[in-house]
Amino acid sequence: MNATVKNRFTPRVENLEERTVPTVTYHGGAVMPHVQAQAIYLGSDWGYNSNLHQQAINLDTYLNFLVKGRYMDMLTSMGYGVGRGSASTGVIDYSTLNRDYYLDDRDIQGEVQYLISNAYVKQPNANRLYVVFVEPNVAIRTDDGSTSISNFLGYHGAFAGRNYYGQGADIRYAVIAYPGGWMGNGAVGGVSQFGSMTTVASHEVAEAVTDPDVNYKQLGWYDDQRNGEVGDINRYTLRFGGYNVQSIINKNDVAMKPTGAATLYKNHNQATDGIRPGHNNWIAGDTDRHGRHKAPRKHNPPKHDRLPGHMTAAVDQVFEKYL
Ligand SMILES: [Zn+2]
Repeated sequence: MNATVKNRFTPRVENLEERTVPTVTYHGGAVMPHVQAQAIYLGSDWGYNSNLHQQAINLDTYLNFLVKGRYMDMLTSMGYGVGRGSASTGVIDYSTLNRDYYLDDRDIQGEVQYLISNAYVKQPNANRLYVVFVEPNVAIRTDDGSTSISNFLGYHGAFAGRNYYGQGADIRYAVIAYPGGWMGNGAVGGVSQFGSMTTVASHEVAEAVTDPDVNYKQLGWYDDQRNGEVGDINRYTLRFGGYNVQSIINKNDVAMKPTGAATLYKNHNQATDGIRPGHNNWIAGDTDRHGRHKAPRKHNPPKHDRLPGHMTAAVDQVFEKYL
């Protein structure tokens, strides 16, 4: 056995602030140890608008970067039992979204299920996370009445679905609204629309891997005192690897950033970026979210195509490598 450990890689993180009372605790539920992320670009504009199509490619590159490197190491070092994962090439869903109405979360779930059932996306498993980016000028609404205009920039959750073979499966997903637009979706302050989406995506991925079944089954890591997950509390906007990402709290509510990240600013006012603690996190057992019946959606049979393959630069400036 080699006794020397000096070359061993040790993930490092930096404290942004000090706090000593442990408040983020494990509640016995699942985590996703090595997330397998796949983006779904929902809405035909992602395919037909060349600027948006390029942005989808860039979001795919970002997601690949995020899940494979130091952002995840940060979560590992905080003791959440999760680490680096992988990403599959995203899929454009050419559904036509009616912008005169809210896009309801239940319909998003239905669309994710449709894509799974027809094998347009990877199959669900214990690490699979679908990250749904909704095209611009669409306002999203969740069952509790919260909207992407007034209440959230994104959210994550899970539902009881089926795999391609019709077997029951827990399906974990995150949804990112497109900031701004004519109906005024919320946005992270001080960064571009793209930067807003990457910041929110980092927040949702970190929460999804540490508490995938928040609205669905047993909680994972959760701060009961402040009623939030690891992305909801003491948030800072960072610059990391050329992207905007969000800080994440450790078990003591201390905001942390991955090694090499620069702090841009603290979100003093939780309302400034539209994410308020707890509001976009459904507590397990919340019947409101699952208790309602909605009329079946008229399905607009989507066309699908795949984005060009990842630029696999992230394989790997290893140890050189969130959300
Ligand atoms: Zn959150």
